[in-house]
Amino acid sequence: AATPDWERVRADFPLLQRQVHGKPLVYLDSANTAQKPRAVIEAVDDFYRRHNANVSRAVHQLGSEATDAYEGARRKLAAFLNVRADELVLCSGTTFALNLVAYSWALPRLKAGDAILLTRMEHHANIVPWQLVAQRTGASIKVAELHADGSLDLEALYAAMTPEVRLLGLAHVSNVLGTVNPVAEICRQARARGITTVVDGSQAVPHMPVDVAALGCDFYAFTGHKLCGPTGTGGLWARRAHLEAMPPFLGGGEMIKEVRFDGSVFNDPPHKFEAGTPNIAGVVGLGAAVDYLSGIGMAAIHAREAALLAHATEELGKIDGLRIFGTAPDKAAVISFAIDGVHSHDLATLLDLEGVAVRSGQHCAHPLLQWLGVGTTCRASLAFYNTHAEVDAFVAALRKVVRLLA
Ligand code: PMP
Repeated sequence: AATPDWERVRADFPLLQRQVHGKPLVYLDSANTAQKPRAVIEAVDDFYRRHNANVSRAVHQLGSEATDAYEGARRKLAAFLNVRADELVLCSGTTFALNLVAYSWALPRLKAGDAILLTRMEHHANIVPWQLVAQRTGASIKVAELHADGSLDLEALYAAMTPEVRLLGLAHVSNVLGTVNPVAEICRQARARGITTVVDGSQAVPHMPVDVAALGCDFYAFTGHKLCGPTGTGGLWARRAHLEAMPPFLGGGEMIKEVRFDGSVFNDPPHKFEAGTPNIAGVVGLGAAVDYLSGIGMAAIHAREAALLAHATEELGKIDGLRIFGTAPDKAAVISFAIDGVHSHDLATLLDLEGVAVRSGQHCAHPLLQWLGVGTTCRASLAFYNTHAEVDAFVAALRKVVRLLA
């Protein structure tokens, strides 16, 4: 495939043209939420201008256009992830998706004596729902630890897959360390031991080709807003057998076939898990986002981000007293760092005045930050629409800020 013209790609993102504090914006917070290309903004706008109606309810023309657009977006997403559309539940994002698994799959099944295995690098969205399940069922939580470079200690992980473990919750890519976990092999090991696998794909799907079917997991959650789509969109893929066996999470309209006061007949999956009016325009926008990303090619995006990551890592390595957390060989374009004697919030605040947007804090991963032994870090996260010149501008701004604070 031809190499994309990255300058033209960048020009697809209107927001990247703006300035902040009188400086050109350098947006390095895409792991938090990604910017939106014109194609997504226009798809949402077009939906509201021309097709707006509720889905699956009205027989009129707009109703069928809205339903077609919504279901069409589901099919696009399913193709993008290489899964069946009738196994893809649309929802507000990863947090909802993981809670759906927690409440509909885990809560009715787990009991005292069972264990849930998590890794040290999980986001709170893949920790707290399991704690809530553990509290209600009497199950316990086990944690698989990391090597110093931020990669999973696979021997320890497999050793922790003891008979009482029923479920493994695992990030595909860490939002703090950037570590890409060998999910297919881990799921193979879990499956051999009868452990159900729940993969948090939030930080993977936007940055590399992801073939969910090939991963061999039971559940795969992702969020649309990190994938250049609108906020409040995302999904959960699950094997059909799981979706058939799981009770609904929320009840209401759309998720039923028939309702009587003495009982209701639920709709077929995935609709059984989509109670109420969904974020229709958002899902349509997400469909446009995957069309857009597929047009560039996820392999090209991955290569572009790897080049930006290598450049940024090399330049940051030249700054005295700067430590990078997460140096695993297989790493996404996320750089968490700290500078000796400088608070990360001060760094991020002063970088903002230079036009550079980075995140600082604990990145919704308190257990990981505790393990790193730093209160907080700064996180620069790159996307394909960033440039080498922006990396240089960031590093120059960082040097200036450090001089100010030192
Ligand atoms: N998991 C990971 C690894 C994430 O990075 C995020 C977003 N920061 C989430 C889960 C939660 O995603 P959302 O807020 O879109 O539900």
